Amino acid sequence: MTDLTRLSAADLADKLAARDVSSVEATQAHLDRIAEVEPAVHAFLHVSGDEALATARDIDARRAAGEQLHTLAGVPIAVKDIIVTKGLPTTAGSKILEGWVPPYDATLVSRIKDAGLPILGKTNMDEFAMGSSTEHSAFGNTHNPWDLDRIPGGSGGGSAAAVAAYEAPLAIGTDTGGSIRQPAAVTGTVGVKPTYGGVSRYGLIALASSLDQAGPVTRTVLDSALLHELIGGHDPRDSTSIDEPLPDLVAAARLGRTGDLTGVRVGVVSELTGEGYQAGVSARFAESLDLLRSAGAEIVEVSCPHFTYALGAYYLILPSEASSNLAKFDGMRFGLRVEPDEGPITAERVMAATRGAGFGDEVKRRIILGTYALSAGYYDAYYGSAQKVRTLIQRDFAAAFEQADVLVSPTAPTTAFKLGEKLDDPLAMYLNDVATIPANLAGVPGLSVPNGLSDDGLPVGFQVLAPAKADDRLYRVGAALEALLEAQWGGPLLDRAPELEVGK
Ligand code: GLN
Repeated sequence: MTDLTRLSAADLADKLAARDVSSVEATQAHLDRIAEVEPAVHAFLHVSGDEALATARDIDARRAAGEQLHTLAGVPIAVKDIIVTKGLPTTAGSKILEGWVPPYDATLVSRIKDAGLPILGKTNMDEFAMGSSTEHSAFGNTHNPWDLDRIPGGSGGGSAAAVAAYEAPLAIGTDTGGSIRQPAAVTGTVGVKPTYGGVSRYGLIALASSLDQAGPVTRTVLDSALLHELIGGHDPRDSTSIDEPLPDLVAAARLGRTGDLTGVRVGVVSELTGEGYQAGVSARFAESLDLLRSAGAEIVEVSCPHFTYALGAYYLILPSEASSNLAKFDGMRFGLRVEPDEGPITAERVMAATRGAGFGDEVKRRIILGTYALSAGYYDAYYGSAQKVRTLIQRDFAAAFEQADVLVSPTAPTTAFKLGEKLDDPLAMYLNDVATIPANLAGVPGLSVPNGLSDDGLPVGFQVLAPAKADDRLYRVGAALEALLEAQWGGPLLDRAPELEVGK
């Protein structure tokens, strides 16, 4: 029998629809794989096997009864632990939420449940999604399935590693500055940050509300399109949700797979290439451009001069919003409550003791930075200036999209680095997101697709960016590049990953 964990979600869905396999078999195969590799990978914070199998049994019964089901019904999925799930622990990677079980589902989780996808569990992440390596998780780091001594990216390293290690065919991530795309790049998977407002944020534990978006993490571009269509679309519970139908993403991915890009203008952002990018990353990027050209695309060079300031603006806007969003973790409402060792038990002292014990160093660093940037004397100099830069970046995008239908760059400057290598150097860690952050500041969608191995044998990602609400362009160009590369490689990039050393 074929190994069910190796199938793409689309292929597994076909087998389920044809009743070649049952959802119980598919779900059990993934739970077995999780049991086998989790000691080495640690992608999950919580595995919900019983609940997943119950959903699978229900779907199998409904299918047997002839009910019309969603395309992805019965295909298992993993969900990043920053997304609230009724009855399943949700920690956002933080001790401050240890033991908290949400009383409700995020909108995207309701949609997943309504469509009948068994939820395998909650995936590991940097605490409150702050980081690029998953090393800031309060519950231990996740290992990159390509090399267990290396980081799986962050903050959504758990979702990316779970998909790369065949523990789940589909996963959900969130991307505030790159946390879906950068982990996808360094694990050889596909990750998509939808247009801001394209997927409901209701039930996402907010990091920076004006930047956060949830999106798909998968092994193929088509699978991301299928999942994006399931979770996306208007939600009255999110006031920033776009009240328009999504473009036809699945059709765009299928069109892309034909490998024809005649007439598509692809803009190379000069500020997101060259210096600072690992040689192998730049080389794969140049080869991918040649492939797109051979498929009929017109390659043009565009300049977005203010992208140089994106990282600086982001690290003022994000901490400012985060410091406000995290104020609700006060020892009274959710999860952890710590009382002071001595002295009176006042609200303020319980709050200080709880936050002191419950938050990790990176979270504290950003709260301090954010409250400082927002303080009366410094607001205009820091937060106000950052917002102005944000507007200039949006204008750069608008001008660039006059010249090109999509913009492209490497997703991340380097391949996966060694665990521990950048942990004591916050600035070095922040630099991983130079290429992904501009999209969040402007609200435009972005996709990362694997485009080869660097000289160190580790995966590299190619980023595609499109104008807001034109997410279909990501899928067309992403799927075209994927098809062209797979024709060269004779199969998906992940087939070239070394076998996992499970005993490690
Ligand atoms: N690495 C970035 C940060 O630390 C991105 C985080 C994210 O997208 N959630 O803020």
